Amino acid sequence: MRVKKEKRHRKIVRFYTACFGFRQPYKVICDGTFMYHLIANQITPADNALATTLAASVKLFTTKCVIDELKGLGESHSEALQAAHKLTIARCEHERKKSADACIMDVIGEKNPEHFFVATRAVDLRKKLQEVPGVPLIFGLRNALFLEQPSTFQR
Ligand SMILES: [Zn+2]
Repeated sequence: MRVKKEKRHRKIVRFYTACFGFRQPYKVICDGTFMYHLIANQITPADNALATTLAASVKLFTTKCVIDELKGLGESHSEALQAAHKLTIARCEHERKKSADACIMDVIGEKNPEHFFVATRAVDLRKKLQEVPGVPLIFGLRNALFLEQPSTFQR
């Protein structure tokens, strides 16, 4: 089971390196729902977990708007906020904060020029990103992390 999953993940990563020019260390932009999932399921440290998922070196990012949104969620999300503070901030140029979803959509743009993987559990955001070319998606289910199969649109 585990070996099968690793093999599937390697194949997906190869697809993005071959077709879209992704290079290590892979950049992964994480939203609040994903950071919360990592904490709630004790998947830490985040960078090790994602390096294992992608079987590659990774660099983790988030955005100022994601951090602001986590701050607004109060005590229940304080650990997720702490973990998000350890990530690199991807530039988003939103002086007035946007919702985390809108912010990530802006950072990815029409073609994901910076080659970000996006790690999120937000269903709406995932759906929107499936329609942008060259955006690999990572999500968590309980204590495991998965790389989503490229949508037919991606192919
Ligand atoms: Zn922003």
